[in-house]
Amino acid sequence: MENIVRTRFAPSPTGFMHLGGMRTALYCYLYAKAHNGKFVLRIEDTDQERFVEGATEVIYSSLKEGGMTYDEGPDVGGDYGPYVQSQRKDIYLKYAKELIEKGGAYYCFCTKERIESLRDENGNVRYDKHCLHLSKEEIERRLAAGEPYVIRQNIPEHGVGEYEDAIYGHISVDYSELEDGVLIKSDGMPTYNFANVVDDHLMHITHVIRGTEYLSSTPKYNLMYDAFGWERPVYIHLPPIMKDATRKLSKRYGDANFDDFVSKGYVPEAIINYIALLGWCPKDNSEKMTMSEMIEKFSLDGVSKSPAIFDDAKCRWLNGEYLKAMTDEEFLKVALPFIKKSKAYGKYDDMLLARLMKTRVEILSEIPEKIDFLEEFGEYDPQLFCHKKMKTDESLAKTVLPMIRETLEKLPSFTHDAIHDSLIALATEKGYKNGQILWTARVALTGKDVTPGGAVEMAELLGKDRSLERIDFSLSLLNK
Ligand code: GLU
Repeated sequence: MENIVRTRFAPSPTGFMHLGGMRTALYCYLYAKAHNGKFVLRIEDTDQERFVEGATEVIYSSLKEGGMTYDEGPDVGGDYGPYVQSQRKDIYLKYAKELIEKGGAYYCFCTKERIESLRDENGNVRYDKHCLHLSKEEIERRLAAGEPYVIRQNIPEHGVGEYEDAIYGHISVDYSELEDGVLIKSDGMPTYNFANVVDDHLMHITHVIRGTEYLSSTPKYNLMYDAFGWERPVYIHLPPIMKDATRKLSKRYGDANFDDFVSKGYVPEAIINYIALLGWCPKDNSEKMTMSEMIEKFSLDGVSKSPAIFDDAKCRWLNGEYLKAMTDEEFLKVALPFIKKSKAYGKYDDMLLARLMKTRVEILSEIPEKIDFLEEFGEYDPQLFCHKKMKTDESLAKTVLPMIRETLEKLPSFTHDAIHDSLIALATEKGYKNGQILWTARVALTGKDVTPGGAVEMAELLGKDRSLERIDFSLSLLNK
């Protein structure tokens, strides 16, 4: 047991999964797996006022979708459960009492009003250790009388708390900067500051991986580890993820929620791959990596101290790479919900639409507007036939469109290759450049000069009848 690496992801159920949280989970997972260790999920729900229905399910499903299978957790069990803090209430109280015995904590009966009266001219409250000096008898009497109380940590007034962080190096915090914070609230629930210590110890967590916001409060936790006589874990604090130089990635800007990315048409593997790179660079500078490649390459040397900036363009690019690497069948599966949002849905072969889009979008939500044009055929400006480089114009179109129509009409099977070969043969036979025939056909079939895919793909998608209909319509425009 002693030598097994055990990491934990300990989110609070807020109802959505922040990409920063996903990155923490990912590094916990990668670190554990890179060391043949265990990855544990613990739900930190001691703040009952912030309870959100269904929020734990969001955590389970996001981790599963992201490919981070936890070895222990509320819904999968394990030897050190329960893994939900609200179900561990009695455990915390027992340890808080033990900490009181050891001098690391004390009962506090101060009223809200008294605490308020401690507010200084800057509006800050700093508890004055008033209740630390109550006699044993008085404490007993007030407890027996059922007076409401909290349990506070007893931080030394002098001295320095020091530790080595695996990323940030030597950290030292003056105890005078720390407060006698509440460990057990008046409702009997622990605060994060207490529960994280008790649980990390009882769950045999060897490496605590979390955001830098905990870097300077960690000396408080170390005081408790030391008072209990428990071994401190290794601390690995991670740099924040920023939207830009000054702003953190946050739900407020609508760009931090894992589920939103998935609904915008990012594939979970690509998001996970991208966030892995926010703060970590593998030795070989790889970018596109599978989960097992990441496990193989992950090491703390490559984790940076500097804040990582979320680069939209790069994330989109990487997603596009994942889409391109899919088989047509895989792509159709993920693309279909987006194809369904287009006006074109139901009128074309889904697989043909998917093939057309696979290499042409970076995120799936671009699909509907990219294929809507198929259904927007109508009056257009015949000037579109004029293309200098292709050497095409309206009069050429008038001459070649009837030939194109005849060629297509004669085709016994209207497949990509048959359409392609027949149009090329037509160009050769009549002495035109391939581009002259193909450009003219493309405009006639779509009424557009920019389309994803050329004449052959457009004709194949439309099918023979609609292709001929559209050529007829285009000829009538030219002859007006
Ligand atoms: N519940 C804490 C959070 O969501 C966990 C911090 C930690 O990993 O210790 O920020």
